[in-house]
Amino acid sequence: MISVEDAQNSILDLIRPMGRERVGLLDCPGRVLAEDVQSPRPVPPWNNSAMDGYALRAEDVRGASRETPRALRVIEEIQAGVVAKRTLGPGEAIKIMTGAPIPDGADAVVLVEETERISDDEVHIFLAVREGEAIRLAGEDVQPGETVLSHGTRLGPASAGMLANIGRARVYVYQKPKVAILATGEELVDLGDSPGVGQIYNSNSYALAAQVLEAGGEPVLLGIARDNAEDLTRHINDGLAADLLITSGGVSVGDFDLVKSTLGGLGNDMRFWRVRMKPGKPMAFGVLSGKPVFGLPGNPVSTMVSFELFVRPSLLKMQGYENLFRPSVEARLLHPLTKSPERRHYVRSVAYRDGDEWAVQAIEAQGSNILHSMVRANSLVVFPEYESELAAGSRVQVILLGETPSQKPEHLEMSTPERVHS
Ligand code: AMP
Ligand code: MG
Repeated sequence: MISVEDAQNSILDLIRPMGRERVGLLDCPGRVLAEDVQSPRPVPPWNNSAMDGYALRAEDVRGASRETPRALRVIEEIQAGVVAKRTLGPGEAIKIMTGAPIPDGADAVVLVEETERISDDEVHIFLAVREGEAIRLAGEDVQPGETVLSHGTRLGPASAGMLANIGRARVYVYQKPKVAILATGEELVDLGDSPGVGQIYNSNSYALAAQVLEAGGEPVLLGIARDNAEDLTRHINDGLAADLLITSGGVSVGDFDLVKSTLGGLGNDMRFWRVRMKPGKPMAFGVLSGKPVFGLPGNPVSTMVSFELFVRPSLLKMQGYENLFRPSVEARLLHPLTKSPERRHYVRSVAYRDGDEWAVQAIEAQGSNILHSMVRANSLVVFPEYESELAAGSRVQVILLGETPSQKPEHLEMSTPERVHS
């Protein structure tokens, strides 16, 4: 049995980033940039007005105030997108709108609220300004040739705006990995069929597909393979068309746990198959026909936690991410936790901000079949392998899986457990 870290390292050593593809800006959010993007032009392209007002020479309005306005001759009016025809001379002003290029000869803008138009060709200025006032300089945002976004950047709304800002309509990003998902088990029926006696719905495929989507991959559902080598072989072969294959179930020590042996028969190079953790000890990782294959455990919570710890970082690495792991924080445990030593437990929990610190409380039902614990949880307390007791109030490491409330959620009050066995 190997540690979680050894398992993660062994997997990530083998995972390679995908190739790249070009996408339009509407498809870029969430993708990782696979090129350095330089701007061919300055942004803004020319000096322009930061506000609606009058372009003028600072020198001409020295000492201006409400009591002692300066009178200037209005020689032109320009809106954004229009270049002034005239060069501004002493004693002159050009009415200007936000974004319009600063006319030659002008060196400042006074905002319109600090002026009064006396007639068509005369304006009174009530404010003295310095040279450069209310002028946005060419290249202030982006210099020509500047790298505005570098390789490895995760693209978001601001990046999309920046790409458009410099006129780039398409960029190279890492491809999304296609992830084949195979459920295994005689007892499973898929949605749309009714479970007979002894049968249950296949839930793992859907939880995994959602996890794949959330991690930026493209899930490909392979359906359900029955617990025999032939059916497993057929489905696994289908899965090898994808970039990565996930199976769930059939990977433990039961009489019908045939996933490992079937993969082995196909030539899978198995790296390990048990990890010192709970939930999710049986977890077979190998490489088959050059594709990473994850044999995840069948219990729904084990499946999801194993995905979190091993598959998600792999998918992120394939997409060019640098940060492969969820954020983790130190939190105050609200109650004692006990377990038997030797395996590390990932305790489904609710973490929330409590003033300046984090507090965390375990969900009461920790069974690896209790999917409800995952529905309620927003975090996992890391209960170290060789410890068996965590006291109330102790500081624990917590992996944050999703949104965390900024105060204690109401429903937690009712279910405060005296002691949670995980
Ligand atoms: P196994 O490792 O195949 O024995 O599966 C362990 C447990 O997980 C059994 O109770 C299975 O019924 C359950 N299980 C396996 N696969 C799925 C699935 N796709 N959806 C829901 N439960 C499953
Ligand atoms: Mg099974």
